[in-house]
Amino acid sequence: MLSKPFDDRDGLIWVDGKQVQWRQAKVHVLSHALHYASSVFEGVRVYGGKIFKLREHSERLRKSAEILGFEIPSSAQAIDDACNEIIKANGIVDGYVRPIAWRGSEMMGVSAQKNTIHLAIATWPWPSYFSPEAKIKGIRLKTSEWRRPSPQTAPVFSKAAGLYMICTLSKHAAEKEGFDDALMLDWQGNVAEATGANIFMVFGDGRLHTPKPECFLDGITRRTVIELARNRSIEVVERVIKPAELKSATEVFLTGTAAEVTPVGVIDDLTFSPSEITLNLLDDYEKLVGKKSA
Ligand code: PMP
Repeated sequence: MLSKPFDDRDGLIWVDGKQVQWRQAKVHVLSHALHYASSVFEGVRVYGGKIFKLREHSERLRKSAEILGFEIPSSAQAIDDACNEIIKANGIVDGYVRPIAWRGSEMMGVSAQKNTIHLAIATWPWPSYFSPEAKIKGIRLKTSEWRRPSPQTAPVFSKAAGLYMICTLSKHAAEKEGFDDALMLDWQGNVAEATGANIFMVFGDGRLHTPKPECFLDGITRRTVIELARNRSIEVVERVIKPAELKSATEVFLTGTAAEVTPVGVIDDLTFSPSEITLNLLDDYEKLVGKKSA
């Protein structure tokens, strides 16, 4: 059963400095962002009333906009304050926060030099990105036909809406065949990431391996998990990983704000079982964010 559509809910959304009734938080159809993908966003989580790594997300939002050539008219501090204000206004204690910035309607062509920059922040309860059952067994990934573009082809370090076009296509193709998500290779054919999360692998040498973030987001969760691994004296190797190497991986997991630490059980016809390193890091992450007591 589908939950209520996102434009038909109760609550308040922060739009350009004001709290607006949820159903009234609208954009005009002639908005540059809608036609030319000139928008950037964040995905942030609230645990126990506290927004995890909020400043890093607010700074990344500003950076994503800068990469697309526009400036968000709010400082990182002001974005932090607005996020905190809107979670309180909606009584969100455990949930998700979605800040989004976009080019408005003054110019309606490829060029958008004079468009007003808007900023909105919505928040809602959101327990788990993947189903809890899938999360325990490990999710199933199917390799996508689409590849992460080269940094010369797209603004790959911006969390920009346009980059998700191939993510939706990849995820739909995977779901159509009964998988939970897609594994995306990069433009050179190396392992890159999933459609909304970074990927890690263990190969039996006790070290943790992950692709270098050279054409995709260096996720805030990715960096957090690298730190957690180092705290456990697990060596982390950031390197080029060929898809052919996956058959010798013993553990695979994803990381992301929404995905948190999610074990992977299947990639195409390969199977993996979440084991010590994955489960320890999952546990460390849940303790760090405050989902579990330390
Ligand atoms: N890659 C993509 C494509 C994503 O959408 C996300 C989620 N923002 C990530 C990686 C992980 O980033 P983070 O850990 O900062 O949420």
